[in-house]
Order: sequence, then structure tokens, then C-alpha cells
Amino acid sequence: MFESQVLSDSIIKEKEIKKINTLLNKSIYSQHERVALACHILFNSGHDSCLSGQITAKVEDDLYITQTLGWGFDEVTVSNLLTVDSNLDVIEGDGIPNPANRFHSWIYNLRPDVNCILHTHAQYTSALSMLGIPLEISHMDCCILYDDVAYLEQWPGVPISNSEGDIISSALGDKNALLLGHHGLITVGRSIEEATCLALVFEKAAKLQLLALSAGEIKKIDFSLGIEAREWLKLDARISATFNYYVRRVLS
Ligand SMILES: [Zn+2]
Repeated sequence: MFESQVLSDSIIKEKEIKKINTLLNKSIYSQHERVALACHILFNSGHDSCLSGQITAKVEDDLYITQTLGWGFDEVTVSNLLTVDSNLDVIEGDGIPNPANRFHSWIYNLRPDVNCILHTHAQYTSALSMLGIPLEISHMDCCILYDDVAYLEQWPGVPISNSEGDIISSALGDKNALLLGHHGLITVGRSIEEATCLALVFEKAAKLQLLALSAGEIKKIDFSLGIEAREWLKLDARISATFNYYVRRVLS
């Protein structure tokens, strides 16, 4: 009899998690490199929308890496990144940050677990945001976002003032993703890798939702199985390996 036929499901799962955490490689890139690579991954994965979209990564309390206003995701390099404080004053680098980054400070203030924030106008997400319905997570591939996507139906306008920061951070709450009506997406993560992977899955889920809606009614998945899948997919080593795969794709 095989070992797997003798062991209980919980023990098998525990062993698999241990293997994944031990064997999957961690990042060899610096924080600045990972921010730049995340921008290129997003550009190559349907998140290109001219100059719209931002990334911030926390260096330490009140210091963040972000891209320079005027540069597209595909143009971001380590040398044109900025370090800014929560007031968006530039501490290091040439240029100015996107003033729309202001709402990021509100999220960081409310969510000490967050170390990276992404905002994009990805194509399918943008299309979904026009329908007045929330994002549905109803496919296994997207379960990393299961029960973890908030929805802000009303568009509060261009997010450059403190009122938008308040609205957006409140709408996000304790979730790790937010669909902004008539706008785009926000994902947050414990790491650059996690926020990036969530943004990629968000856009995939929006695409699948639009495709499925064009063919029929979307069926919900079982709640407890969805939560179980989310926790499995959110393993740090798994996220790191996924990010590294996307890195190899953009560098090849
Ligand atoms: Zn935007």
C-alpha cells in the first residue's frame, strides 16, 4: 500500500506544504529590482493603460519606493524609481511621484500588514468595472482571491485628495483586493510578489467572469473549499515561485 493511502488528508497536506516551503526558491532580487520587475510583469499581463497605474513598496515606516510620474510600466528601471515619504515628498531620485499615490498612505496607515500596494487599469477589470457588479471568484485558478475582494461601486473621482484616500482605504477594509467601479483594481500584499500575483489573478478572474457571463449564469463554489484553496495558494513559497516564473518570462 502506498504511504499516501495510509496517511490522513491533513498529514498529507502538512507534508506537501513543508516540501513546497523547503524546495521552492526564494527571490534573488533586491527590493528595487522586484518593484521594477513587477512593473514589467504587469505591463506584459494586460495591465498596460498608458501612464495609469501605480506601485508602492514599503522600505520602512513612512518611506516607500514608487515609479516616477511620466514613465510607463514598461519603462521602469531601478535607476528611475523614487523613494518618497507618506506626503509624497521625494527623499531619493529625480522626478515626482504620481499624485494619485496619495491614497496609498491611507491604506498603509490602516493596514500594518501591507508592504506593497498596486493599482492598475487592467483591460478586463476596467470592462467589468463598468457593469456595476462585483468581481466573482468562481474558478480554482482564482481562489487566491476567494472571499478577499471588496467592491467600491461608486466612482469617487480622480484619487488625488485625502477624501479619496479615506473612501478607498475604508472600502478595502481587511481585504487584499478592491474593485473600483468605473476605474480599475487595487491589490495589497505582505510582499511585492504577493501584491503582483493578486493583481494578475484579479485580471484573469475579471476576464473569466466576462466570458462566463456571455455564456450563462455563474455558479458559486463551495465556501469552505474556496477558503481552503485560498490558504493553499497563498503560501509564501508558492507566491515567490510564481513571481519568479513571471520574472523569467519578462527577462527572456
Ligand atoms: Zn487609477
